[in-house]
Amino acid sequence: MEYRRLGKSGLQLSELSLGSWLTFGKQIKNNIAEDLMKFAYDNGVNFFDNAEIYARGESEIVMGKILNKMKWDRDSYVVSSKVMFGTRGADSKPTQKGLHRKHIVEACEQAMKRLQVDYLDLYFCHRPDKNTPIEETVWSMHNLITQGKILYWGTSEWSAQEIMEAHMFARQYNLIGPTMEQPQYNMLHREKVELEFSQIYKTVGLGTTIWSPLASGVLTGKYNGKSEPKNTRLSIDGMEWLKENVMTKDNLKRVDNVDKIAKDLGLSLPVLAVAWCLKNPNVSTVMLGASKLNQLEENFNAINAKAKLTSDVMEAIEKALSNTPIK
Ligand code: NDP
Repeated sequence: MEYRRLGKSGLQLSELSLGSWLTFGKQIKNNIAEDLMKFAYDNGVNFFDNAEIYARGESEIVMGKILNKMKWDRDSYVVSSKVMFGTRGADSKPTQKGLHRKHIVEACEQAMKRLQVDYLDLYFCHRPDKNTPIEETVWSMHNLITQGKILYWGTSEWSAQEIMEAHMFARQYNLIGPTMEQPQYNMLHREKVELEFSQIYKTVGLGTTIWSPLASGVLTGKYNGKSEPKNTRLSIDGMEWLKENVMTKDNLKRVDNVDKIAKDLGLSLPVLAVAWCLKNPNVSTVMLGASKLNQLEENFNAINAKAKLTSDVMEAIEKALSNTPIK
């Protein structure tokens, strides 16, 4: 396992990390969540990702119980949460969601309780909040850092412009700006990471913890068969929006094309897809998700597979995908 600096910060994250969206506290039993975390940690993972909204707080509760049970040294891993949506979904009152000072302060306390930790290593603003000035959010995050409740703060799915606004404000008042962004990045979704952020990796030293490296499972090829697989993420009730987003005709065609390259290399498609994300030097860590232990075991082969992705292979993949982001 390689460890990469989170942007210009000195914090080093394992190149592969583990997230809990839709799985912990929802799709999978707690003993499977424990197996996943144990396998990950034993194989060098030092970062576990979470958010207040995941299973409406239940995902953090499950992760907190596992962290407590495993008794790993607190200084040997990094755990995150995200603030914005609250834990009540659409039932949230205005004070219970958003990036205003009240919710940020209360959400942080609540996440620490659920995760059973004294501080959060990484704390993300889960989306931009149009109802709060960016300076209020920057001040609130800076204060949490000075209080020792969080160590680094970042954003998720913010635009380059919003991230720069936060930095400019932080600079003006000598506050700590966002260290990292959590964007979607995979073979089927490339614009932000490859184009929009290209300047701010250099100017502010942005780190990235990228999500959905397998486009929710579409990049495993399992949705390319004649019949759709059952009991998978895209068949969960309420996930119709996600299915519409990722399981498009164009995407399935791209998946077919890169599958041929994977076969030629003697790799499985998910292994190739994860290794492809790892090849991008602006990716600090690839956050994996898994509903079964054997998925995680398989995806870990991406670490060794990286060596097979020579410049010729990368070029062939580029052609097969034919979705190079254009300026
Ligand atoms: P992926 O795109 O890798 O999807 C993971 C899912 O794909 C698994 O749960 C499993 O679902 C399926 N899968 C994974 N590996 C295999 C395999 N080898 N064979 C077959 N199926 C496989 O990642 P996620 O979407 O889970 O994202 C990773 C993490 O990123 C999340 O857990 C979360 O922490 C974070 N995230 C952050 C977001 C944000 O807005 N900041 C948004 C989304 C995620 P199944 O078995 O059910 O098909």
